[in-house]
Amino acid sequence: MPTVGLYVHIPFCERVCPYCDFAVVAVRKVEPELEARYVAALIREIESRAVEFEGAQLDTVYFGGGTPSLFRPEALAKILEAATRAFAASTPPREITLEVNPSTVERDRLPAFRSSGIDRISLGVQSFDDATLKRLGRAHKAHEARQTFTAARQAGFGNVSLDLILACPHQGFDAFARDLEEALALEPEHLSLYELTIEAGTPFEFAASRDQLAPPDDEVATRMLEHTAARSAGAGFERYEISNYARPGFASLHNQRYWAREAVLGVGTGAWSYEAPGARFRFGARRMNPRDLGAYFAAVGAGGDEGVESEVLTLEQARGEAIFLSLRRRTGVDARAFEAEFGGRPRKFYDEQIDRLMAAGLLAETESGDLRLSDRGLLLSDTVFADFV
Ligand code: SF4
Repeated sequence: MPTVGLYVHIPFCERVCPYCDFAVVAVRKVEPELEARYVAALIREIESRAVEFEGAQLDTVYFGGGTPSLFRPEALAKILEAATRAFAASTPPREITLEVNPSTVERDRLPAFRSSGIDRISLGVQSFDDATLKRLGRAHKAHEARQTFTAARQAGFGNVSLDLILACPHQGFDAFARDLEEALALEPEHLSLYELTIEAGTPFEFAASRDQLAPPDDEVATRMLEHTAARSAGAGFERYEISNYARPGFASLHNQRYWAREAVLGVGTGAWSYEAPGARFRFGARRMNPRDLGAYFAAVGAGGDEGVESEVLTLEQARGEAIFLSLRRRTGVDARAFEAEFGGRPRKFYDEQIDRLMAAGLLAETESGDLRLSDRGLLLSDTVFADFV
């Protein structure tokens, strides 16, 4: 039976962090009227678009944002009920994740989130150093992250992921290493570690253009990445994707759908959907909702599609994506599976690129043509991926 993952975007945050380029809206408090209006729009979108994935079993749900935990547990439960109805799910999804920020109000809600069926928490720690958090413009302090982690355990969450950012402004290697040790000491099931990227149009981009950010240099950032790989492996984590580490059995089921090119229905402002290759679209299709809240309410949330961007993938696009999305995972590209889908192993289409990347020490190839990023390729993955786009 085909399966689908559901991504639900809740765009509200207490304030907008200066490096963020997600679809977010700053609100001091999510008023009940706004919450009810947004939930109604999401449910309408789920109900009207489930047909795009007709016959699929609901496999995973991911509440992301924004700060989805600013919504009350009963609001998220309503969305889950609507999704279960829309997909006629006879069994519960295998994983339901909620992104949580370490604030007091969200901590108090954790037991009710757990009762609503949510079984995985992704906690936005970012750093255990208050000075770093302040420079990142985050609204919480490090002790609140520790308290929220403890509260998640007390609420019965046995699957908790911690998010850290590395290569933050003014962050030295030792400060990052302390962050990582604090994270490991809490014994989470999963870690996500992303290098800070400076996005166009953000206050951080403006500051960087005036040399005001003081990020660590490339050599230090590389040491941080290498240290993360070595230290997390020593602590029993498997690096199953470039930026994601999990104890055995705890790799994120939802996020793996993106790298495996499996269907995802994304609802809410700025949410992406992906339709896997099939009867409707031979090589797959993507769509993105409008990012603006007013535009979303007026169009998608009212059953329309004004402002929606969609793209039907070509054979060449699908083939390139199959390569670079597989390379993100440590399992890499399975040449036989690739051949079954595209009529030839990767060498048939990318001989020159593979030779060049192997000569540069970025790619490893087995005798049967399977491909994986080398250790050096893991550090320079964007360079590798550019060859397949
Ligand atoms: S909390 Fe997350 S989503 Fe919200 S503004 Fe900060 S980085 Fe963006």
